Amino acid sequence: MAVGIELERVRRTSGGRVHLTPHVPESGDVVTLCAQTLAAGTYEATEAEADCRNCLRRREDAGRVSSAFFQSDVGAELLQRSLEQARRGRQQQAAASAPSRPKAPAPPARPPAAPRPERQAPAIRELRSRTELRPTFENVYVSPDGVIVRVARGEISHVTFNGPVDVRRRDDVLTVRVGDLVLEFEIR
Ligand SMILES: [Zn+2]
Repeated sequence: MAVGIELERVRRTSGGRVHLTPHVPESGDVVTLCAQTLAAGTYEATEAEADCRNCLRRREDAGRVSSAFFQSDVGAELLQRSLEQARRGRQQQAAASAPSRPKAPAPPARPPAAPRPERQAPAIRELRSRTELRPTFENVYVSPDGVIVRVARGEISHVTFNGPVDVRRRDDVLTVRVGDLVLEFEIR
């Protein structure tokens, strides 16, 4: 995975293959990447290497991995955490390779405006801000503030964010500010 999403490993207590899943819950059923539902009490988390071929193959399919995250109750939060971990990892790498210098203060709220033409930048009908969205999975983008957006046919289908949200309705337009994104939805 380009973004280094962490998947967890799970196995039936009766044995068998080690599968992959976004998260092994404390209780309840778990759905594996190969779409098997393991009932509560019949599985355990494991540190063993995954050896389910279907799971391993689907791990390479970004769309499937993102769907698995979005399908799971805690999925969006986990996806966000994974992305943050991946970002921290990259920052640490960058810091390690850069000459040592005192830690920079928090980055400015708005990055210097230098919109480089992002080939994969999505055209999203509802997007009003010029927020730079980074593609993470197929049809899934993340903003600098960590707003995760899922797009279907050029329209927003799912937004998730753990932070400030402001929703206003004016006539037939619903304006939603979520983190560093501004979205406008026409409502009739
Ligand atoms: Zn599997």
